[in-house]
Amino acid sequence: MLKAYFKPDRVIKRINEIDLVDLVKRFDLIVLDVDNTLAIKGTIQIDMETDRWLKTLSDLGVHVLICSNNPTRAAKVIADSYRFDWLNLALKPFKFRFQTKLKQMGLQYERGVWLGDQLFTDIWLGKRLGFHTILIEPLSTNDYLSTRILRYIEKKVIN
Ligand SMILES: [Mg+2]
Repeated sequence: MLKAYFKPDRVIKRINEIDLVDLVKRFDLIVLDVDNTLAIKGTIQIDMETDRWLKTLSDLGVHVLICSNNPTRAAKVIADSYRFDWLNLALKPFKFRFQTKLKQMGLQYERGVWLGDQLFTDIWLGKRLGFHTILIEPLSTNDYLSTRILRYIEKKVIN
């Protein structure tokens, strides 16, 4: 029962496994995590493959929101380079910061997809909001102790 509640719709290793043309056909809002999803935790360095993927996504003209729990300006810096919207200090897995942001943007969507590397923040929140959820393998294992403990539990839930 617990597994069904947290289970992502899809699990991938690298972000560029996602076919963007297909994604944009199916969804009208794409939410992306930052730390260990787009960039190695604590950095804003995007590798070449991810950069290419993000540029293509930007060209496709769909609503994209970069959504990070990190209080730094990393989400803004990355979002600005691709003309996406952003939210830092998102307080995932709580809904209210995200919902307030959507209201401020005046953004309506019918089908959203949520992409991130953590089950108990990204995926759990995405599922509760009715999003399609995609769990991506973290870019690094440079996590806080609390995250490392959560990852241990995540493995038990996913496998
Ligand atoms: Mg993350």
